[in-house]
Parts: sequence; structure tokens; C-alpha cells
Amino acid sequence: IIENTKNRINLLPEHLIDQIKAGEVVERPANVLKELLENSIDANSSKVRVTILNNGLDLIAIEDNGDGMFFDELPYAFCRHATSKINNFEDIYRLNTFGFRGEALASISSVARISCHSAPRANPEQGAKFVIHGAQTVEHSKYASHKCGTSTYVKDLFFNTPVRLKFVKSGQSEKNALKRVINSFLINYPHVEFAITWEDNDPEIYRAQDDIKTRIGEIFKKKSRKHRPEIFDTDGEYLGSHCKMYISKDSSKGYSGKQQYLFVNNRLFTDKKLHQIIIRNMEKIWQPGQTGDYIMQLHVPENEIDVNVHPNKTIIKFLKANEIFSLTSATAKKLISENEDKVELNTLA
Ligand code: ADP
Ligand code: MG
Repeated sequence: IIENTKNRINLLPEHLIDQIKAGEVVERPANVLKELLENSIDANSSKVRVTILNNGLDLIAIEDNGDGMFFDELPYAFCRHATSKINNFEDIYRLNTFGFRGEALASISSVARISCHSAPRANPEQGAKFVIHGAQTVEHSKYASHKCGTSTYVKDLFFNTPVRLKFVKSGQSEKNALKRVINSFLINYPHVEFAITWEDNDPEIYRAQDDIKTRIGEIFKKKSRKHRPEIFDTDGEYLGSHCKMYISKDSSKGYSGKQQYLFVNNRLFTDKKLHQIIIRNMEKIWQPGQTGDYIMQLHVPENEIDVNVHPNKTIIKFLKANEIFSLTSATAKKLISENEDKVELNTLA
């Protein structure tokens, strides 16, 4: 009974493929911010300026003083699978950059209006301006500057994908997600100066620091408390992996306002088990039933992690997971024992 002899399988048009693929990388404004900041860091910037309007839906602007791009290169930055960061598959396992898929800018440009100008370090006069709206090139023109760097303005995010726009959560939860992204760069790049402008407020300036603890103090600081937060820190090493831990002495109930971050090789990731190991060990210093702020920075040989699990890259596979659990637990215990004299230990915990 052949009712329909017409082909039912269609090849999707390129722009539709882009919009579908974009959903894997850009679900919300915070994903855009993360990708742009990663690119600025990858480009060796020492100063980065961030401007956010309407929690990132109207504007996410990143201006950096990094390596920049040449006139001919700039359009490629917005092509899928165009990257300057890897040449072969093995390169993924010896990454020293965040990027490698070469799809972030392509994805973002398919669901927003982007205007970008860039000037290369080698010759800032040979830069370009590139404007792209929903994957359609609008302008590619010459741009000459006297200093290198890249400025990217992402406007009207999800303007052409109204359903995705509807899924973006409430203003406050988007703002929290954006802040979390910014904080993770503040923590891992203390030697980079950041200026962050929220809506039409004055910019928050984070000067370049030699000492990461100053930055962490700013991040752990609570509006409701006047005193400088007390921070305990220590480090540990096990079989070629390194762990640095920063823990707030203060604790409080609930989740809101908590600064809790796991990093591996400067990438933010989530891992319930590692979170639990830290929380359980810190029961000794935090008030009963409460938790506090923590930062753990793991450094693991690049060939012992797989960051290629998810395009959003917040899930990390450890080759030697058990060793990482042991390292985390040992470092947490070391932190407690080194600071025993500074707190009244909760012996009940
Ligand atoms: P990836 O970072 O995975 O390579 P992206 O789509 O994020 O892919 O960027 C594509 C390319 O554009 C990068 O490989 C890089 O060469 C260039 N690029 C993007 N942003 C910047 C920037 N801020 N400064 C210099 N080059 C950049
Ligand atoms: Mg990138």
C-alpha cells in the first residue's frame, strides 16, 4: 500500500542545521559569555572589559587587548569547525587552550546579531570589522587601529529562535549564571584585569593581582557582612595531579549566594561526588547543617582528562577518577588539620 511515493527524508538547509547545533552550545546567555571570555583568554589578553544588558539578552560585549585577527581571518572565526587551536585529533589531549571545536562563534552568530572588530598584534592597522546577523554576513570591512585586540558585541540573543528565548529563565537566575561564569575567570586569571559593567551601573574593576587570595577574598565577601572573609587554603599532590583548595570559615544555611567552584586545568566543571567529599570534610569547621564557600583547583595532566564529553564542556571525564577522589579527600583533611587551632572544631561532625 504505497500511499506516498514522495521522498520523506529531506536534507536540512544549512541555516537550520546551524540553529539546531547552536542549541548544544548556547542554551542561555551565560554560555555565550563563557565562550567569549575563553576566546579572550586564549588570545593572551591582559585586560578584558565586559558589558551586560538585560541579563545578556540585549547585549553581551567583550572587549579585549589580545592577539586579534587579520582582515582575511575574521570571517573564518564565524565559520563552523574553523579554529586556530588544533590540527589533529591527538591535539585535543594536549590542549593548552579552552577552545578547539571552532564552533562557538558560528553557533552564537546563528542565533544573535554580532558585530565584531579586531586588530592583529602583528599589525593592528590590518584589522577588520565583521557584522553577522543570524548566520547572514552583513558587513566585512577594513578596520585600522593603533592597538591590538578584539571587541565582540552579541546583540538580541535568540531573536530568531523565539522558543529558545522563552526557555531562558527568570532574570535573577540568568544573572546568577552570568556571575558564576565571570567569577570563574576572576579566580583563574588573577593576573588579568577585568572591568565588569552590569546594566547601566558603574563598572566593577578587578585589578591585576599577583596574589589569587585577594581575588578570592572579593568573591567570598558577603554584602551582609562587614568583615573580610577568613579563608583557609592548602594544597596537595598525588601521582602527578595537583590540588589547591580555598575554604571560607563562615558558613550559612541554604544555597543562595554560595560560591562553590570546581576547576580542572582552569575549566569550571561540575561533579557531585567531589562536591560531596568537600562538603562532608568541611562539616568539621562549618556550623552544623550549614555550608560555606569553596574553590578547588585541580591540575591534572591533559592526557588524563577528556573534555570532549559535551559541547558545553562542564562535564569532565577523569582517566584516574579514584585517584582524584583520594587527592580531594586527602587535601580537605590536610586543610582541616592545618587550621585546627583557628576554629572550634565541630567534634560531633
Ligand atoms: P575555538 O575557540 O574552539 O577555536 P571559536 O568559534 O570560539 O572556536 O573561535 C574561532 C577562532 O576565532 C579561534 O580559534 C580564534 O582563532 C579566533 N578568535 C575568536 N575570538 C578571538 C579573540 N577574542 N581574539 C583573537 N582570536 C579570536
Ligand atoms: Mg572558543
